[in-house]
Amino acid sequence: MSEDNNNDREYILDADSELRFEIEQKDAKVFVTLISGFAELFGTELVKKKKYEFGIGAKVAIFTYQGCVLQVTGKMDVCYISKETPMIQYMNCHAALEQFRTDAEEHDKRGPVILVVGPMDVGKSTLCRILLNYAVRVGRRPLYADLDVGQGAISIPGNIATILIERPASVEEGFAKTAPLVYHFGHKSPSGNSVLYNAVVSKMAEVTLQSLDANKRTKSSGIIVNTCGWVKGYGYKHLLHAARAYRARAIFVLDQERLYNDLLRDVPSNVHVVLLPKSGGVVERTKELRHESREQRIKEYFYGNMRTPFYPFSFEVKFQDLRLYKIGAPPLPDSCMPIGMKAEDNKKKVVAVTPTSSLLHHILTLSFAESTDENVIGTNVAGFCCVTEVDMERQSVMLLSPQPRPLPPNALLLWSELQFMDNHA
Ligand code: ATP
Repeated sequence: MSEDNNNDREYILDADSELRFEIEQKDAKVFVTLISGFAELFGTELVKKKKYEFGIGAKVAIFTYQGCVLQVTGKMDVCYISKETPMIQYMNCHAALEQFRTDAEEHDKRGPVILVVGPMDVGKSTLCRILLNYAVRVGRRPLYADLDVGQGAISIPGNIATILIERPASVEEGFAKTAPLVYHFGHKSPSGNSVLYNAVVSKMAEVTLQSLDANKRTKSSGIIVNTCGWVKGYGYKHLLHAARAYRARAIFVLDQERLYNDLLRDVPSNVHVVLLPKSGGVVERTKELRHESREQRIKEYFYGNMRTPFYPFSFEVKFQDLRLYKIGAPPLPDSCMPIGMKAEDNKKKVVAVTPTSSLLHHILTLSFAESTDENVIGTNVAGFCCVTEVDMERQSVMLLSPQPRPLPPNALLLWSELQFMDNHA
């Protein structure tokens, strides 16, 4: 293993090995070119002679099944070749899923729905990306559901989302996030409101399972579901709930034997539970880094990235025009609930929020629902705003939004625990 700082050299990789590198320094850039052979980044094939650019935060592994030569230029914090990778096991999982898909295709059935579970920082999202890329590379069109409200990659944190994967992820930017189905949750961990989390997951599962039937190719391709890294106590119950809601055919457990054994015991015997090793390359993140990466996701939502910058808008909204709600009322004992309602129903109740200065920096979700009589929990999200100023004297807020227009007249906004300090200017 070698550590390098300012790199400009060729790396010769043997078959079944990978080049791993990390970039932590601000403004550092690393360029990688495949000179010969075949290589892929988390399942996306590299195009020969094309220069790929990586910036701060990149934690990358370029793997080769056949062997290759890579030209690497730039400043990186860690860079080494590893021959110990679980890619062959991951490839075998893909092959098993392909058998299910072929069978589904032949019998016009739904393809495999699989859950990827494991503690934090074991490479769950990366495994999903690899399996999805392999699937589209052989002509499948799977759905990707991300139930990770803390570090989800499809929408911004605090939400769960599903997208249709039609082409491999871009090497530098991941999957295209066009037309996602997003449901608001409003907290960075399912523990923020467990009852609501399960309700939102159930709704997402119901809607996406139904949508599978609308397209033959997607139907046989199935769904890959990414989950949160909270796997103990209630976290484990959430995993069981998700497995039931999605009627999972298989659960891929990364790195934790205990979780694997618990699931073997608790899920029906027709669900395949498979224990997989984590890659030694997966980088652990501290609490601070997780916080930073959440902020980064929100910042990218409003401001884009180096390659595709966005220019968001700011506008003022009077308190009187702000139809702001929160999902989840404070708990009441069962004895105080109206007849026929349970205390846990309160956790899914939509309650009006009176604007105060405490709204500052909070993310507000713009719902497609126009009234609280609609099923707000099960209605797709239209977008997000951030409260950048609260003026109690003028009785108004300033909202940062990707849309140039002020809010539509019936706009219903949902309060989120997530905050974003807009110091971009
Ligand atoms: P979380 O618990 O936050 O959901 P996770 O289990 O989904 O995390 P990933 O996000 O897949 O983990 O991986 C964590 C980081 O490790 C990512 O930045 C990813 O790019 C990096 N990574 C994954 N596999 C490798 C590898 N083989 N070599 C180098 N870096 C890797």
